[in-house]
Amino acid sequence: MQMISSDIIIVGGGAAGMFAAAVCAEAAPGLKILVLEKGSKPLAKVRVSGGGRCNLTHECSDIRTFVQNYPRGGAELIGPLHRFGPAETTAWFEAHGVPLVVLDDGCLFPRSDTSEDVINALLNTGINIRTNAEVSRVWKFDGGFNVKLANGDQLACKKLLVATGGGAFVEGLGHTIEPCVPSLFTFKTSDKDFTALAGIVVEDVRVSAPGLKAEGALLITHGGVSGPAVLRLSSFGARSLAENAYRFAMKINWLPAQSEEEIFQTLEKFRVASPRKQIGTWSPVGLSSRLWKLLATRSGADETREWGACPVKVLRHIAAQVSGFILPITGKNPHGEEFVTCGGIRLKEVNFKTMESRIQPGLYFAGEVLDIDALTGGFNLQAAWTTGYLAAQSLLS
Ligand SMILES: Cc1cc2nc3c(=O)[nH]c(=O)nc-3n(C[C@H](O)[C@H](O)[C@H](O)COP(=O)(O)OP(=O)(O)OC[C@H]3O[C@@H](n4cnc5c(N)ncnc54)[C@H](O)[C@@H]3O)c2cc1C
Repeated sequence: MQMISSDIIIVGGGAAGMFAAAVCAEAAPGLKILVLEKGSKPLAKVRVSGGGRCNLTHECSDIRTFVQNYPRGGAELIGPLHRFGPAETTAWFEAHGVPLVVLDDGCLFPRSDTSEDVINALLNTGINIRTNAEVSRVWKFDGGFNVKLANGDQLACKKLLVATGGGAFVEGLGHTIEPCVPSLFTFKTSDKDFTALAGIVVEDVRVSAPGLKAEGALLITHGGVSGPAVLRLSSFGARSLAENAYRFAMKINWLPAQSEEEIFQTLEKFRVASPRKQIGTWSPVGLSSRLWKLLATRSGADETREWGACPVKVLRHIAAQVSGFILPITGKNPHGEEFVTCGGIRLKEVNFKTMESRIQPGLYFAGEVLDIDALTGGFNLQAAWTTGYLAAQSLLS
């Protein structure tokens, strides 16, 4: 006969596990719920999220548009987000003493600008948590789960929620783990002339790699490229880019709103109208003069010469560089502000109405341990709150 030590054990004291625990603790204070966290403190990522300010969700007028920010897991999250989405998350935190503000870009932060308020709201719900408690193994018995800690302690529970953000130890329970690779990163390049332009930001570019494209602002850094367009590409291409060891030719269209032919016509008109102006110092297409000079010289133009002396063939080359500059990508850099893992528990093996395993009844998953990840902007934490909430409803039933 197994000695059940807790009704519910939650492995992982991150956003998903702690939110599930908070919802359960408030709804059923009599239930024996225990969170096991391997670190010395819970909610470590929440603390540093959003640069310590915690971008805890994103404004949403339509769930189907909202899920387009999830390269993996968007379709599965449609139903769950209708049940507990950004509006419900906002209401929950505001009811727990954390008023939120929406920024112009749609990101929601605590009005106090500190993640500590989010952490305190969760901790104040009376969660029972054991820290420095790493789970090393989990196995099923008739009526529940045994949980073994790295220090040798053994516990047992009726229902188990795994919210570890990584989750390797659940393999023994029959689940498939989609290989984990990083998502949300910036790129390195070996093109030194290009990185000499560090600091330049170009709004609304289109970047592409084989089979992938993304749009938004691009920032030239000392080591390569960053900015929203690059982060989108890294997120949507997390798997294919990893397979190619982050080495590929990235195409940058600096003016995607215009065709190459339209750009050529603009250059040609400028040549006729301003023949005495110097090529290297006059950009007729609105790009910064340093970037323009690189594109022009790469096209074979002599920057010291006058526009009137520039052959049509060279103008065509410049138009091609503006529409399709090729940057050799030689690796990746972590994105300082936010990084997430692509990969985790295969989504088909989980029932998204309940967050219960389709393989092991009584076993539930929430948060980044699942093969779900999103772009920056509060979407990753929203997935943790949403799946944590749904799991809590099942744990309570
Ligand atoms: C620097 C940074 C900034 C970020 N900023 C934002 C942001 O502003 N907005 C946003 O939406 N997202 C942000 N994210 C992403 C977001 O923080 C994560 O997606 C989210 O925290 C995932 O929550 P989780 O609970 O699923 O996993 P985690 O937060 O990773 O929590 C899992 C927990 O499980 C514990 N654990 C793991 N294995 C075991 C084990 N075997 N036994 C016991 N415990 C275990 C871990 O110690 C950890 O505490 C950021 C991420 C980073 C790294």
